[in-house]
Amino acid sequence: MELKDKRVLVVGLGKSGVAAALFLQAQGARVTISDSKAEPQLGKEIPALLDKGIVVETGAHGERTFRDQDVIVLSPGVPVDTPQLQQARKYRTPIIGEVELASRFLKGPIVAITGSNGKTTTTSLCGEILAKSGMQTQVGGNIGTPVTDLIATSTVKTYNVLEVSSFQLETIESFRPKIAAILNITPDHLDRHGSFAAYAGAKERVFENQTQDDFAVLNADDTQCVEIAKRIKSTVFWFGGVEQAGNGAFVRGANIYWRTPEGEELEIMPVNEIALKGGHNLENVLAGVVVAVLAGCDAKDIRRAVKEFKAVEHRLEYVDTVDGVSYYNDSKATNVDATIKALESFSRNIHLILGGKDKNSDYTVLNPLLEERAKSVYTIGAAAEKIESHLHLPGSVPVVHAETLKNAVRLAAESAVAGDVVLLAPACASFDQFDGYEHRGRTFKELVHSLHAAAATSAERSGNG
Ligand code: ADP
Repeated sequence: MELKDKRVLVVGLGKSGVAAALFLQAQGARVTISDSKAEPQLGKEIPALLDKGIVVETGAHGERTFRDQDVIVLSPGVPVDTPQLQQARKYRTPIIGEVELASRFLKGPIVAITGSNGKTTTTSLCGEILAKSGMQTQVGGNIGTPVTDLIATSTVKTYNVLEVSSFQLETIESFRPKIAAILNITPDHLDRHGSFAAYAGAKERVFENQTQDDFAVLNADDTQCVEIAKRIKSTVFWFGGVEQAGNGAFVRGANIYWRTPEGEELEIMPVNEIALKGGHNLENVLAGVVVAVLAGCDAKDIRRAVKEFKAVEHRLEYVDTVDGVSYYNDSKATNVDATIKALESFSRNIHLILGGKDKNSDYTVLNPLLEERAKSVYTIGAAAEKIESHLHLPGSVPVVHAETLKNAVRLAAESAVAGDVVLLAPACASFDQFDGYEHRGRTFKELVHSLHAAAATSAERSGNG
């Protein structure tokens, strides 16, 4: 892709937009970056962009800005049906995403991981396994470091392990991972994709440019994945499922095994050595095993890396135990399926904190598990009323309108007894009351730490008295 003197518009001034703009500028393109948000809401990068000679437009997308461009590069946060983009399509201006742009310049094989849930956990895990196996590895994409920022450090030997979201996949053209995994497909982001089919279709695009020489890693227990396998050209390897699932990674008895297409089996590790909690994390580990074996890692390195791998912050993260009650922060459970997995990770006695910004979700599917495992539910945020209207629980499982996270933690702590679990797994986005799920998770942890401090003070007092 020749960029010298090309007029390129980058839409969206987030992390990946800024990275793309700086990269394009360094390649000699004439770059404009546009964001509909006003300047005070945007990052502090604007002066640096202006310094480099990049034209910065904030507050609105000017119609003229989108005209006469050679290429438009989209950040994942920008809806593809933005009116100015529809206009640009009429003028046949190529529109690509930041991941597509970066992948055209990235050296070395790409491992792409997508799915509704588990992307960050599995991407980090794969990165760890490959790195601990002595491979030159870098991790990026939706997980934090924009793919564009990996270009300079990539070599033909680098494994680029990328988390890719459905939004990023909507704007690919030639993106071709050597190994691509879909972990699962359950309803999410329906507010933006419009329908489940459109959302699932975006995920499937991760395989679009693969050939038979490339690998698709799919979840044998996910009906969408099983359907996708029938349509794609790549060589498919499975994870999970019952052991007859064919080639890939699976659990038999107490161990994880790998099976080659020729039917040869290799024992990888005992399941009980996995430090992560929950059946969903076992799935993530199995996916990681498939990716690692396909990348050429040894069983002993895989075992060591998996054993040492702890929960990523805000993903079913153990916080503390106060008065015998364990607190878990799963703030990243921003959809109903993730909340289901969190509930399934504890056998009973759960006090669940639910709510936030609704994503057009159906919360009724939580009823059976809540009835079986919850002691109480605390609703917070803008979705509280909707959630309350969807939950139909017996009187023994009260649903309490707590409004805020602070109230919810206080009320849950008051009613929980030793042996119980207080779980923040809200099934919603956080933007109604927080800056993001990290902010929500950190707030939860601070509230728990103050409970701990209060409990310690009162223990001291009663000791003194
Ligand atoms: P993503 O990057 O896809 O959002 P994360 O690893 O950040 O995935 O996890 C997001 C949420 O989903 C967390 O609440 C986590 O506990 C849960 N989760 C992780 N792996 C899975 C899985 N395989 N299936 C369902 N939920 C999962």
